[in-house]
Amino acid sequence: MNTPRQLTWNGWHVPFIAPWSRETPRAGTIVRAPQGTGIAYADELAAADRRNGTLWVRFPALRGAGKPNLAGVHPLRQRQAMSHLLCQVCAKSTYDDAFSRRGGRHLFLVRADKGQAIREGETTATPPICDPCATESVRACPELRKGYTAALVERPQPWGVAGTLYDPRTLRPMPAPNTRDGLTFVSYEDPQLPWTLAARDVVTLLGCTTVDLDRLLAHGATA
Ligand SMILES: [Zn+2]
Repeated sequence: MNTPRQLTWNGWHVPFIAPWSRETPRAGTIVRAPQGTGIAYADELAAADRRNGTLWVRFPALRGAGKPNLAGVHPLRQRQAMSHLLCQVCAKSTYDDAFSRRGGRHLFLVRADKGQAIREGETTATPPICDPCATESVRACPELRKGYTAALVERPQPWGVAGTLYDPRTLRPMPAPNTRDGLTFVSYEDPQLPWTLAARDVVTLLGCTTVDLDRLLAHGATA
């Protein structure tokens, strides 16, 4: 896979997974799936609209068009980054030198209140990050400046999706209080999966070691 060109805005690298202002979601008409269980698009395109049987939001791919929304997430690029464990910022593979040097572990960096560590088995929709991008992100990203936690992860494994649940009776989106970004995390085993319009690929982090990011990046080595 060719690594996409790194785009910049006001001197900072724009994360690969950030949406641009001309990338606005295209709402499709949600209907009951022909086989009766779950949702479908009225004009569904089998190859483009589903992944592993789950319906996904429709989002155009116009990376670089307009202005970047640095706090947002483009669902399909997030999925691409998560599925292939690409750095969420520069889109290079995180199976890199640092991965080898650290005994086959990926760096995950997530927004967190002070003192909160990434727990073993925690689910996340935040793709991994490479060392140079982590160094820049903790300086540049306003969200991360509020607090973050980092972990080296041996096995980020597919877990499910985050998305909007639809009421099987009314086919309307269900309210999602107390959720992250208004999205409900739904595992691949969950019977609600067919009623979910997915917007993020979610992994579970196995083999987690919390790390002091500053020390890790300063030494660049094994942690
Ligand atoms: Zn990177």
